[in-house]
Amino acid sequence: MAQKYHSWLECSRGCGQRYSVYDVIYRCENCGGLLDVAHDMDALKGRSGAEWRALFDSRIRSEEWPYGSGVWSKKEWVLPQIHDDNIVSTAEGFTPTLRARRIGQQIGMPDLWVKLCGNSLTGSFKDLGMTVLVSAVQQMIADGKPIRAVACASTGDTSAALAAYGAAAGIPTLIFLPRGKVSTAQLVQPIASGATVLSLDTDFDGCMRIVQEITTDNSIYLANSMNSLRMEGQKTVAVEILQQFDWKPPDWIVIPAGNLGNVSALGKGLLMMRALGLIERLPRIACAQAERANPLYLSYQTGYRSYQPVEAQKTLASAIQIGAPVSYERAVKVLRQLDGVVEQANEDELADAAARADRDGLYVCPQTGVALAALFKLVERGIIQREQRVVVVSTAHGLKFTDSKVAYHEGHLPQVLSRHANPPLELPADLSAVRKALDERLT
Ligand SMILES: *Cc1c(COP(=O)(O)O)cnc(C)c1O
Ligand SMILES: [Zn+2]
Repeated sequence: MAQKYHSWLECSRGCGQRYSVYDVIYRCENCGGLLDVAHDMDALKGRSGAEWRALFDSRIRSEEWPYGSGVWSKKEWVLPQIHDDNIVSTAEGFTPTLRARRIGQQIGMPDLWVKLCGNSLTGSFKDLGMTVLVSAVQQMIADGKPIRAVACASTGDTSAALAAYGAAAGIPTLIFLPRGKVSTAQLVQPIASGATVLSLDTDFDGCMRIVQEITTDNSIYLANSMNSLRMEGQKTVAVEILQQFDWKPPDWIVIPAGNLGNVSALGKGLLMMRALGLIERLPRIACAQAERANPLYLSYQTGYRSYQPVEAQKTLASAIQIGAPVSYERAVKVLRQLDGVVEQANEDELADAAARADRDGLYVCPQTGVALAALFKLVERGIIQREQRVVVVSTAHGLKFTDSKVAYHEGHLPQVLSRHANPPLELPADLSAVRKALDERLT
């Protein structure tokens, strides 16, 4: 049935150049613009919005390969022409959206939700995109393309996802990481998956420059988010959020952003749902950046009239420590269409916001802390109304960021007051000392 539909690569600057999704190419040969995956929208309009909704809903918890995946349950919108046998999937997606009841009560927001994209094989939303990219590579190899390996530069989570999906497919992977700038968990994930890990004395942007050179030889395929196949998987988060709210759009979706691929993908998914009649009204997007890596925020302050890459400073939100985001143009395009806003959070704000969420029964990463802190500020300023329905996209599992959580609770973080620190009570193994401590602690 998917054969009715078709997708291709198209120049994002609108110069009209097209390529196959299986071509090893990342930029337009005409004008140097990034390439986006485009779909045959006329063919997709052959089904009504109600029919698409029913089809997607019928695949929730499906046992039929590959529809048990949140991504591949939307195969017609993602990569319709791929052969099912070449799909490399770990049942990614279909992650829970939880009501943040207690934190919502504290700030007077009864309708606040958190989508836990980190509840996934490698612990971040990057799995949503990587299943599509690695599946496409599997198809290219099956079609006889001479691909020796897939490579990426990463702030941590992309490499964990690439290495794991490469391992599942039996495709060699090359991981370029900035030395000392990713968490222990993020470093060990690609190591354990058997990737070749190159730890370089530079930052993310430096790793990116090198991997782009390495992959000019077309036998090594580039998996960074300038590769738009990943956005096709990531955009399904938008469809999932709508599914989880019975197709009633929330008022706002708040999302942390670094390289700006994920916010672009979220926007793409929302716009596609409206174009195909699944929804009529669009939510607004609030994009959250770390103050120490905030080029989009600074550009937003000028109404996007000016834009300067920045040198990203060290931040606890290491997955968004990016000064020269690849998808800046894409992000601005969707933020304009979705009446988006951009907010930022400093180290103290993001660490405290994450700690508050943890104390309310979540376990979130520092990037999600940035999103929550941005939400608090936007509510304070009256841009987001307290009674509105808001969904915060939590991008990774807190367990990937044990190092910074430990430091927070030990009170060891620079520029962070650790207001919610909860260190263990260190006591002698003595019953009366324990009783005394508990009497002081419990009311
Ligand atoms: C990659 C990542 C982001 C940022 O996504 P971009 O597409 O780079 O904007 C946010 N949070 C986590 C945990 C990530 O891994
Ligand atoms: Zn072009």
